[in-house]
Amino acid sequence: MFFIHHCKKKPIIKWYLCLTFYHFMEKEEVLKRYFGYDAFRPGQSGIIDHVLQGKSALVLMPTGGGKSLCYQVPALMFTGLTIVVSPLISLMKDQVEALRSNGIAARALNSASSETENSIIRRECIEGMVKLLYISPERLMMELPILIPHIRISLFAIDEAHCISGWGHDFRPEYLQLGVLREQYPTVPILALTATADKVTRTDILEQLKMPDARVFISDFDRPNLNLDVMRGLDASGKRREILNFMIRHRDDSGIIYCMSRKNAEQTAQFLQTHHFTATVYHAGLSNYERDKAQEDFINDRIQVVCATIAFGMGINKSNVRFVIHYNLPKSIENFYQEIGRAGRDGLPSDTLLFYSVSDIIQLTHFAQESGQKEVNMERLRRMREYAESDVCRRRILLNYFGQPTTCNCGNCDVCRNPPQRFDGTQLVQKALSAIMRTGENITMRTCADILCGIYSPEVKNHQYHSIKTFGAGHDLPIRDWSDYLLQMLQSGYVELQYDNHCHMRITDAGRDVLFGRATAQLAIVREAEPPARSTQKRRRKTEALYQTHLNLTPPQPEEVQEDTALFDALRELRRKLALEQGMPPYIIFSDKVLHALAQEKPLTTEAFGQISGIGEYKRQKYGELFVSFIKEFHP
Ligand code: ADP
Ligand code: ZN
Repeated sequence: MFFIHHCKKKPIIKWYLCLTFYHFMEKEEVLKRYFGYDAFRPGQSGIIDHVLQGKSALVLMPTGGGKSLCYQVPALMFTGLTIVVSPLISLMKDQVEALRSNGIAARALNSASSETENSIIRRECIEGMVKLLYISPERLMMELPILIPHIRISLFAIDEAHCISGWGHDFRPEYLQLGVLREQYPTVPILALTATADKVTRTDILEQLKMPDARVFISDFDRPNLNLDVMRGLDASGKRREILNFMIRHRDDSGIIYCMSRKNAEQTAQFLQTHHFTATVYHAGLSNYERDKAQEDFINDRIQVVCATIAFGMGINKSNVRFVIHYNLPKSIENFYQEIGRAGRDGLPSDTLLFYSVSDIIQLTHFAQESGQKEVNMERLRRMREYAESDVCRRRILLNYFGQPTTCNCGNCDVCRNPPQRFDGTQLVQKALSAIMRTGENITMRTCADILCGIYSPEVKNHQYHSIKTFGAGHDLPIRDWSDYLLQMLQSGYVELQYDNHCHMRITDAGRDVLFGRATAQLAIVREAEPPARSTQKRRRKTEALYQTHLNLTPPQPEEVQEDTALFDALRELRRKLALEQGMPPYIIFSDKVLHALAQEKPLTTEAFGQISGIGEYKRQKYGELFVSFIKEFHP
């Protein structure tokens, strides 16, 4: 075995035992013993077998899908050392902490440690005391002629492999140098892993890594535990109102709110603070110190919500993120899926909410047009809009995008729960088109809504729009509904935006047909806010059922097993104290899923404790007695 024994000063690794042990363990045994899981997720098993045969591969799996185990399990079974290339120090730190908390000898070599610490790590690697070494690409290049020749390498794992491609959304030039690995170590398998499934990016990764013929494993991209929800056409105050409703349902839960601009991030965080939620911001305008602090506070559950620009999250494996909100439309489905994927890594039900408005389309179209890869980026935006505007099951749109077409409705998105109800909206569309026509197609959507509602906004007054016939023609409807209908008219192609002319609306031929009575128009009823979510436990059961139907995974809990919520809260508190004592994030000690299982099953022996999914041998030994006596005392 390869356990780390904590003595007072410094952990000492009993490495010598490992040399005899690993070959004799089956991969399932490694999974249970080190990670405490009973079964591999779909896809993991085949990938691991492939790597164990010494073959290279590219793995595409959604964020939170379980990529890490695909190289961690082989790493534990091989005799030598596995090198894991990772783009971010925080990501390395997180992974190394999680592995070490399971008694696995993992280390990270990077600029965050002193040279003395790094030389100790180097020595440990040479002496065979390390199983997984996390390293940045540039550091690996430095170490190639110095350290690497002295160690026996069994596998190179390249995490976030899309960083090697200029087509990917996160290009890092340092990754390009990784092409030399194949040449210098032709017999060592390379496992590249990413959540980006884009075809161009995929081919590029294989080419850059000089392994064009390597097998590509594309996993199931479904994350059935993520609830998908979209709200369109809300202005800032509408979004704030909905965020507040949402937060009331998530009073104690960790979450991320992604915003397009720093200003939005700051305002949203302030808004949450005034409503007594602990929230902070994370964006490029902060110092390194401030950013690290925000991330650390979030990881350690000292801060509940981070309002972030897209710069946040890649370095986070926090398993108990319960929700992700997009304050604005993301620029591609890849970005979106990666960001929502940060919720619910532990497999428990988690909520995602996307706000979608015309100003986002305008802004993102502008970015795409200026980007230097105009066609590709406009296409990505178009696909993103397709998701936001969908009136069929949203998960179908996502899975279709990732090359996994399905005809089933998921039952866990707003469209499935609440299918849009249509009505004959011809008259409403005609009113709006008439207003646009009378202004000489010279207005934005916002002004159009003002005119229809009869609002004397500065824009209306400046242009004397209050004197046109359609002013106030739709005053019987709230402006929120008009904004929604106008967005629907854009989606249905009755109007288009003049991007080169202040994004004023222009009536299309299809719109003229409606305006002049040659065609009718259907609109969807504007949806009210969703009712509060069902109880967490019911939702969890439902998610288990979804998992089972879609993925054939762990069976749902029998109905009669009730969770003791008071015990769960007490266990959470115990976990928090332990985390504080040991200076590590609570979710690394145990995931929420493990705590829920403990609160349901209330194990009274350390053996029963060790049977809980997610508790490996090391954690059983380390925490078993403490938790068992805690549970006994809680229910004497
Ligand atoms: P990714 O790197 O693909 O984003 P991770 O490797 O971080 O995802 O895995 C996400 C979560 O799923 C982690 O909390 C991990 O422990 C858990 N997980 C992975 N494989 C399994 C499995 N076979 N059974 C149960 N949980 C798993
Ligand atoms: Zn659905």
